[in-house]
Amino acid sequence: MLSRENYDIVLATSTAAVPAWMAKRYPEVERTDFEGRHHKFGQRHNACPNSPVYQKYAKALASKLAERYGENDHVTCWHINNEYGGICYCENCEKAFRVWLQKKYKTVEALNKAWNLEFWGHTIYDWDEIVPPNLLSEGQPGDRTAFAGISLDYNRFNSDSMLENYKMERDAIREFDPDTPITTNFMEMFKGLDYFKWAKEMDLVSWDCYPAYNAPISYTAMAHDLIRVLKDAPFMLMEQSPSQTNWREYNPLKRPGQMRAQSYLALAHGADTIQFFQLRRSVGASEKFHGAVISHAGTEDTRVFREVKQLGEELEKLGNTTLGTRNETEVGIIFDWDNFWALEYSTGPTIDLKYVDSMHTYYRFFHERNIGVSMIPWDADFGKYKVIVAPVLYMVKEGMKESLEAFVQNGGVLITTYMSGIVNDTDNVYLGGYPGPLREMAGVWVEEIDALPPEWTNEVIFTDGTKAVCGMLCDLMHLEGAESLAEYGRDFYAGMPAVTKNSYGQGTVYYIGTQMAEAGLDRVLAMAMQDAGVTPVLADADGLSVTCRKAEDCSYYFVMNFKDEALDVPPSLVGKEDILTGKIVEMGDQLAKYDVKIILVQ
Ligand SMILES: [Zn+2]
Repeated sequence: MLSRENYDIVLATSTAAVPAWMAKRYPEVERTDFEGRHHKFGQRHNACPNSPVYQKYAKALASKLAERYGENDHVTCWHINNEYGGICYCENCEKAFRVWLQKKYKTVEALNKAWNLEFWGHTIYDWDEIVPPNLLSEGQPGDRTAFAGISLDYNRFNSDSMLENYKMERDAIREFDPDTPITTNFMEMFKGLDYFKWAKEMDLVSWDCYPAYNAPISYTAMAHDLIRVLKDAPFMLMEQSPSQTNWREYNPLKRPGQMRAQSYLALAHGADTIQFFQLRRSVGASEKFHGAVISHAGTEDTRVFREVKQLGEELEKLGNTTLGTRNETEVGIIFDWDNFWALEYSTGPTIDLKYVDSMHTYYRFFHERNIGVSMIPWDADFGKYKVIVAPVLYMVKEGMKESLEAFVQNGGVLITTYMSGIVNDTDNVYLGGYPGPLREMAGVWVEEIDALPPEWTNEVIFTDGTKAVCGMLCDLMHLEGAESLAEYGRDFYAGMPAVTKNSYGQGTVYYIGTQMAEAGLDRVLAMAMQDAGVTPVLADADGLSVTCRKAEDCSYYFVMNFKDEALDVPPSLVGKEDILTGKIVEMGDQLAKYDVKIILVQ
């Protein structure tokens, strides 16, 4: 039917929910959870990735679909499974984990050392003594762990196991369809899977964007800037709701114009497609109140339908204009799943330290100033950037020290923070003083780390006397060549440096030793931007969100207003064409809330 109506089809493989007959006949296809309970039939995203039965049937289903539809010209993309995630601790996973570990560590001695199993006398003598780290073993309530080493490796193993599932379906499709792009849909900064590793196996990256009603725009923008970088290429917005979600606690409608503005935000940060979930509201079960293009009324005469139609018409008019154009940035923020897992598995020094929140704390500064950012992997080509920001770079993996040093020596500006340079790849501490491998280039030694409860604060005092509140973590530092930009104002470490700057080779390292209130942080980051000569995409776009996508001979400036009040168009864009309307921008033109312009600059 869809082919007859000339639709382009993204065909999914339906392997993300185990059917009832399979769970009944083969209980092993269900997962064992963190509490150690083996599940019965129910839910979705429920298959054990290491179940040979699941693998057999998932492969067969993908293969049959490809055999039947692989030559259909309307199938423009394959969508494998759906929103891979979750974790299984069953006996099949246990066996596969041991094999995975043997391949990685070769000997039990190496494994004992990597996980520091001497501690509490947990030394193992044989591979079959290893059990999955759920609550029956090293796991602790709240997704915590007694031994970060094993839990960290289990996350890596689980991510790899699901990636094997993906590759298995991909390869099955490829036997019948050699050309059509293959993807699976990601979920922003999803903790469970190492998306950088996954992206290498995918033809293109797609993701599902469901911002909470109170999420700052900068948070969604950061997700786009990560997803784009996964393959360093434009991406698909696979899913968004045309209006409300239903699975959050509160699910307000998207206000008139909001869905359109959010769609262009995706485009502005590198999307080349916009899709929706769902087309039609289901009649029952868990997503019956999830937003849909077609409501329960079943008519075209709804606000949501009209807004989707308008967006569709606009995108059709834009045609190929912006497709394949690139977002180039001078700033890279290092995002790394090993660090994400290891930092949050760490027992102490504070439970308030969250990885993604830490990233957003820094990202926000750049977003508010329309400075383009890429969320980059630790092994990116740093030479492409003027500034690398490495917040809470807790785990410094093999090779990281050298590439960061080379970046700074060649004139780059590195900004790093508290809880950086602490552990190696397997979560064992670098002995000899924090921040370990970063100590020399930062020119500081962190003797102690104070972890303040939420009701305690300190303050930093900059050299000109201005102050900013700080808290959560306070590094007690000694200068080893760096200069102090600000010192603590109170407590027994008053007068010790809190923020430092060190010249290293031709470049500079900023070390931020405590979590400062915005005013203080912004001040330090502004200093670093000046040092590096980083400039905003547009200098005169106060309050507006602006990005630039570059084609070979022209640029497209996406100008969006997410503020409550109307804002003037940037004077630097006067006289240029808004390709959404075909009109020339005039002095005094304004953008109301959720207005969008795409300005062509030759
Ligand atoms: Zn399993």
